[in-house]
Amino acid sequence: MKWRALTAGVLAATLLTGCAQSVAPTERPGEKAAQRAGSYGPEGVGERPYRRWGLAAPLRPAPKPAVRPAAARPGLPPVLDRVRTPDRVVFLTYDDGAEKDPRFVDLVRELRLPVSMFLTDSVVGPGYGHFARLRSVGASIQNHTLDHPALRGLPYAGQRAEICGQQDKLRSRFGIRPRLFRPPYGTYDATTLRAAADCGLSAVVLWRASAANGELAFTEGASRLRPGDIVSVPSGEPTDDTLTERTIRVLGEIQGRGLTVGRLEDYV
Ligand SMILES: [Zn+2]
Repeated sequence: MKWRALTAGVLAATLLTGCAQSVAPTERPGEKAAQRAGSYGPEGVGERPYRRWGLAAPLRPAPKPAVRPAAARPGLPPVLDRVRTPDRVVFLTYDDGAEKDPRFVDLVRELRLPVSMFLTDSVVGPGYGHFARLRSVGASIQNHTLDHPALRGLPYAGQRAEICGQQDKLRSRFGIRPRLFRPPYGTYDATTLRAAADCGLSAVVLWRASAANGELAFTEGASRLRPGDIVSVPSGEPTDDTLTERTIRVLGEIQGRGLTVGRLEDYV
């Protein structure tokens, strides 16, 4: 995501440096359908999805958030690296769209993971079909610019073109108008916020935790996952593991903290 070789030069400098419940005694609603949906995997049909993906227990269903997100307000959008909520949820976010791992679609579908994908047009390239499949199994699609520049310091017209341009692309590809924007490298300025607002975006979403190099790193605050944390799972970087494997490791961390995965768009 933020450290793509593609956009080298601006690299890493900037950021980051970037309960387990017992086995459910009864089958959860929807589990049968999820099982029917997956007819592959090492254990084959009938294996409970969480086991098929190597998790020790099912993910707890996310609670219904108490407060619905407000509609876009006049003025500048808020910048968030976490969400204030008492709910024991964290949020999984992915950037750019470089890695088009078909097993990731299966993972999202079978575990019903409400992931948020922040897409950059020049990185997705001709690969929008993969993200259409992800969207059809419950992922949300959000805005991460047309060409992935570091926006901070750029003139308004350039920032607006990057952000509004990607809104237009996503509308024509998916018929949607994303509400959330993630600036490349997490770098932005007041002009970015103004441009994002003018392009119809209602929040600028950063992250507090990043799943780099197989472990979670935190930008600030406690070095453990807390309710409301926004987690960025890097994709498209030269690593030995796949997006699916990285995600499963993060899910283990999430369960170990007695948390589950919430839908960011329900809270922001
Ligand atoms: Zn990025």
